[in-house]
Amino acid sequence: MTTLALLAFTSQVAAQECPIGSAVSGFAEPCMCSPSASLKPLSSASIGRVTRGRLLRADYLESSAFHRKMESDIEANNFYGTKELVGLVERASRRVALRYPGGPRLGVGELSRLRGGDIIGHSSHENGRDVDLGFYMKDFAGVPTELPEFTDVNRAGIGEFEESPVYFDDVRNWLLIEALIEDPYAIVQHVFVARSIRRRLIDTGRRLGASEAFLEKVGRVVMSPHADHPHQNHFHVRIYCSAEDLPRCRDRGPYWPWIPEAHPYFARIVPLPPIRL
Ligand SMILES: [Zn+2]
Repeated sequence: MTTLALLAFTSQVAAQECPIGSAVSGFAEPCMCSPSASLKPLSSASIGRVTRGRLLRADYLESSAFHRKMESDIEANNFYGTKELVGLVERASRRVALRYPGGPRLGVGELSRLRGGDIIGHSSHENGRDVDLGFYMKDFAGVPTELPEFTDVNRAGIGEFEESPVYFDDVRNWLLIEALIEDPYAIVQHVFVARSIRRRLIDTGRRLGASEAFLEKVGRVVMSPHADHPHQNHFHVRIYCSAEDLPRCRDRGPYWPWIPEAHPYFARIVPLPPIRL
């Protein structure tokens, strides 16, 4: 029996009425009623904070036709996340590929360890809600290229790999940001990246006709971390706790005004000061 079938079966059993006294009166058929009768399909749970947390029943990110694990991160194998985060990577990379075919697969760096907790090389990534994503890149001839590791990009959007220049793919990286922010199931709180990349993204979105309202969302979500860790070679993406992981999962603000009403964080939304794009 598959796990899903087993869960469905278990739920059916739990839904049956339990005969009174069945637990003690020795029915010929064993009673399968659960005293809790509150069985839910088990799915991932993010516990605590991104900087001090755990991950239960993690989903594992497999490579696909649309995304790949960065070669430099394969050995450590920290590709575990909540089902919302793993699904976000799958959906966003697929959407970019469908909207702009012919590109490279999205390069995915580390998420979290199987059970979360401390992870080498990151101050967060502890409870399955952070993922590092490589930039979509092109070579000198404009041909999309898949680099095996994160590669620094300068203010002009130019990097270097094996002594050859490589270029930040403005359109595909914009499409990625759009897909992350518009995802229907996971709510992205932050995309950390260098200031110059943020500038390129907003300029590209404007050039492609994005609305000012959407550009404002991008301007809030995409932010530059402190100067000693500028994120010049990848996007660090963080999602909010899912509603079902609350209250054990914990976030700090800000809470964006587009959080859906159905999510408990809707109650935490406060007016934000204007933002400069
Ligand atoms: Zn990161």
